[in-house]
Amino acid sequence: MKNWLQKFMVGRYGVDQLSNALITLSLVLILMSIVLEVQLLNSFGLLFLGVSYYRILSRNTTKRYMENQKFLNILKPIKGKMKNAKNISQMKNKKDKDFKYFKCPKCSQQMRVPKGKGRVNITCPKCKNVFVRKT
Ligand SMILES: [Zn+2]
Repeated sequence: MKNWLQKFMVGRYGVDQLSNALITLSLVLILMSIVLEVQLLNSFGLLFLGVSYYRILSRNTTKRYMENQKFLNILKPIKGKMKNAKNISQMKNKKDKDFKYFKCPKCSQQMRVPKGKGRVNITCPKCKNVFVRKT
C-alpha cells in the first residue's frame, strides 16, 4: 500500500504551504457551511480542496513552486504586521509595569508616575492639587 503510494507520488509536486493553507481554508468553509447552513460555502470549500489536491498531485513542479513562492511573498508582510502588533502590545504591557497609578485625593483624577523615583510631589493635572506619594 505504501509502495503504491510512493510510486503514485513519484514526479508529483507534493504538499507545500499554499496547499496546506488551501486545505485549512476549505475545511473552515465546509464547517461554516454546515454551521451556517449556507450551501455556497460548501461549494467554495470543495473547490479549494480540489485545487489543493490538484496542486499536490501536479507534475508541473516548477509552476507549483512559483505559486507557493508568490503565496509566501503575499504572506510575509501580513506576518510582519502581526509580529509588529504583538511587539507593540508587549511594549504597552512593559510601560504599564513601569508606572504606578495614583488617584488625586481632591478630585479623584487618575494619573501615572514612573516607578522607582522615591517620594515625589505629584501635581494633579486637573485641579493642580499637590500631594506626596512614594513610587
Ligand atoms: Zn485633582
